[in-house]
Amino acid sequence: MKPNYRGRFAPSPTGPLHFGSLVAAVGSYLDARTQGGEWLLRMEDVDTPRNVPGAAEHILATLEAFGFEWDGPVLWQSQRLAAYAEALAQLQAAGLAYGCACSRKEIADSASQEMIQAASQATTRATIQPAIDGGLIYPGTCRDGLPAGRSARAWRLRVSDEEIAFTDRVQGRVAQRLARDVGDFVLHRADGLFAYQLAVTVDDDFQGISDIVRGADLLASTPRQIWLQRCLGFAEPRYAHLPVATNAAGEKLSKQTLAPALDVTKAAYSLVRALQFLGQPVPEALARASVKEVWAWAREHWRFPLIPPVATIAWPLLP
Ligand SMILES: [Zn+2]
Repeated sequence: MKPNYRGRFAPSPTGPLHFGSLVAAVGSYLDARTQGGEWLLRMEDVDTPRNVPGAAEHILATLEAFGFEWDGPVLWQSQRLAAYAEALAQLQAAGLAYGCACSRKEIADSASQEMIQAASQATTRATIQPAIDGGLIYPGTCRDGLPAGRSARAWRLRVSDEEIAFTDRVQGRVAQRLARDVGDFVLHRADGLFAYQLAVTVDDDFQGISDIVRGADLLASTPRQIWLQRCLGFAEPRYAHLPVATNAAGEKLSKQTLAPALDVTKAAYSLVRALQFLGQPVPEALARASVKEVWAWAREHWRFPLIPPVATIAWPLLP
């Protein structure tokens, strides 16, 4: 048993939990509990326009019905704005965060302009590529000061070209060069909201999280969070990124792909499917057992090394 293990599950209240969220919850929960660790809950409601009224309460009730037991009170990001402001001020004072006046359109125009130039110079590789999470790499317009007559809309974090690498417990070695792959990224958005990357990093440190177990859809965000940890003087947690649940069309289960909400009347059934998805040899008979019995089996038989790095079967095609 490893002392001082602290894990967490951090859903966004943008809709009800679905099978993909359940996989992340089960993986982080069992990793924590089988190591004698704590498991904390955090409601990631910082992106207020995306919050759905009642979704947070629905998520908590669903987790309870599925037999999850969390330690301590739920942490709500909407109540943590002062902590995010303090972290931003620290980065500003250190010259690591700078004001950016660019609109999304200006960044897109500048990116395509450079692409056109690159193409006209017949280089084989465009200098601007789509950033890893689908956005555009910020061209650095305001890095050395705001253009004359412009004021800051957002705040960005200066990144470096050094390689940021970590060894994920499921995915193996992951490395990024933020300057090349992501660019200076936003900490405080033009709409006045704190960015996800800042909120998550500040909260994981605040909650003393030692182990982050979550879906591999967040793998590309991790080097940004590690860079933020270094800039803020935080300790680096261990990471495990679980395979992402997809539908039969290969799309990630989400609200956008109309993933069905978890059915609390079929909790044991869904837990068994989540365990199977995570590579655990769970007896099929448990799908008709009680939630308690499923957890008893899982706590006794959980084997982390069996988790596959990528999904081997699509939901709802699981047996
Ligand atoms: Zn700018």
